Amino acid sequence: MRIFTSCCTIDVKIFSFKYINPQHLKYLISFILILCFSVSYSQSRKDSLALVYYQNARQSIQENKFDEGSNWLRKMFALKTVLPDEAAYYYGVTLVERQKYVKGKEALQKYLALTSDTGRFSNEARSLISRAEGFICRKCNNTGFEEVGDSCMYCGGAGKLLEDCNVCHKKGIEVCTSCLGRGIRVVDTGLGKSYHDCSKCDGKGIVECHACKGLKKKEVFCDNCGGIGIFKKKIPCNH
Ligand SMILES: [Zn+2]
Ligand SMILES: [Zn+2]
Ligand SMILES: [Zn+2]
Ligand SMILES: [Zn+2]
Repeated sequence: MRIFTSCCTIDVKIFSFKYINPQHLKYLISFILILCFSVSYSQSRKDSLALVYYQNARQSIQENKFDEGSNWLRKMFALKTVLPDEAAYYYGVTLVERQKYVKGKEALQKYLALTSDTGRFSNEARSLISRAEGFICRKCNNTGFEEVGDSCMYCGGAGKLLEDCNVCHKKGIEVCTSCLGRGIRVVDTGLGKSYHDCSKCDGKGIVECHACKGLKKKEVFCDNCGGIGIFKKKIPCNH
């Protein structure tokens, strides 16, 4: 305990300004200022680099050099700086022009969402989206595989299966909980005990299993299809 306490005291002494030599404090402040300056410097350097990439990208797109334009834009995205909404539009243009219709449509939709459909290039974006949609297979979204629903082979489309009841272990009956299997109910009247047939089990001591209602089997959801009876599978698209 004493060791722990003395450790804490040492820590406090190191990190408390009171114990720092004024000369050292000067160095510490300079260090923090340099750190702040270099962080903001590197941020502004990134911003100006992003601007250069963006201008190059737009120039390439204007010259119909879409591969080149896309490369500049990707370099700009890699800088992870704040970008203008139009960057999504230009990226969409390069993708659609390079026949990457699905991704192109996504980028253009992102642009429309970012600008709430009122951006400078909204009309162009919308017409490019409909152009891209002309090349996108409705069945497989150009993935080459279509998702189709097939009747689940485990449950035959019912969505549920019959399983052996694990409460009664396939017997369909269980011990009466009211008389604990004795078949009689004891009532203490105060003048002595009276014995009655248990009304729950009619004196038999056993009742129908509450879980399977005596059927010895119970319904459970089919795990294979998640209880919907349909199993989704992917088949090659014939587009
Ligand atoms: Zn298809
Ligand atoms: Zn049962
Ligand atoms: Zn009973
Ligand atoms: Zn199933």
